[in-house]
Amino acid sequence: MRYFITGGAGFIGSHLATRMLDRGDKVLVLDDLSTGSMENIAHLLDRAGFAYRIGSALDAPLVSECVDQCDVTVHLAAAVGVRLIVERPVHTIETNVKATEVVLGAAAKKQKLVLIASTSEVYGKSASLPFREDGDLQLGPTTHSRWAYACSKALDEWLGLAYMREKKVPVIIVRFFNTVGPRQTGRYGMVLPNFVSQALSGQPITVYGSGDQQRCFGHVQDAVEALLRLLGTPGAVGGVYNIGSDEEISIRGLAEKVRDAVGSDSPIEHIPYAEAYEAGFEDMQRRIPDLTKLEATIAFRPTTPLTAIIADVVADQRARGGPV
Ligand code: UDP
Repeated sequence: MRYFITGGAGFIGSHLATRMLDRGDKVLVLDDLSTGSMENIAHLLDRAGFAYRIGSALDAPLVSECVDQCDVTVHLAAAVGVRLIVERPVHTIETNVKATEVVLGAAAKKQKLVLIASTSEVYGKSASLPFREDGDLQLGPTTHSRWAYACSKALDEWLGLAYMREKKVPVIIVRFFNTVGPRQTGRYGMVLPNFVSQALSGQPITVYGSGDQQRCFGHVQDAVEALLRLLGTPGAVGGVYNIGSDEEISIRGLAEKVRDAVGSDSPIEHIPYAEAYEAGFEDMQRRIPDLTKLEATIAFRPTTPLTAIIADVVADQRARGGPV
């Protein structure tokens, strides 16, 4: 099979490309290197079956050419990370909505399979835990930029499902929960790589808010396994799937675990949300995926425990000699 991965030089995309090449597939990556990097795909440049294009997923002729050359598209290109969303809301909305439209439009010509990456952010403030794919979404007001991210990705989902219904494009939608692992950069505010680089350099570990908020962190290798299985399961087409771990930890607990794993003396420092993000910023207190549907469809659930995930990220940053 030949796979086209938009955002393939990003964190999840580069891990996915590696696994696809390992099993003998061909991979074409498109990335504008805005949040992705050549460093992420440097190890793939000499691999047989690998090709890449530097360009935007908003460039319709370029996307169309790439879609035509491949059997399946995995659309990961998006504006990601809460910090980026707050700082560049126009860029976020435009990138997320227009790129998906471009990809689906290209795939519609020959009704080729498209997997669209969405996010657990779409559940918003919902308190119906664990989050089921058919549960209601509960977003905040348009005056807070944060919700633009959730809303833009929800629109991507609707667009995908609409293309499937109306134009017979086979579509699979995945909602990634906090996905972490080697090569993830902390530059866009993601918590685990940030904490690890702070602990390694002896800087204060910055916990936003009280630190009582909880998250479930899934290993990128587990996420990639789930993606590959979904892509190989005809019954997955037309569905929306949570991907992530359901092992919960508070952010303060995460800071302590990271500090212990590194053996660091870094103090844990609390920073108000208004300072970390924007005035009136509302954080999600808890976010747990219901993995029943994923497991029933692909006979797999993420298994890597948090301690092993942290150890992997610490080892990766140590090997690089600093933050990614
Ligand atoms: N966070 C933190 N310190 C940081 C970065 C993030 O305490 O340096 C918190 C953030 O406020 C949120 C959680 O960690 O409660 C996860 O943040 P991230 O941006 O990784 O993902 P999110 O769950 O917000 O999508």
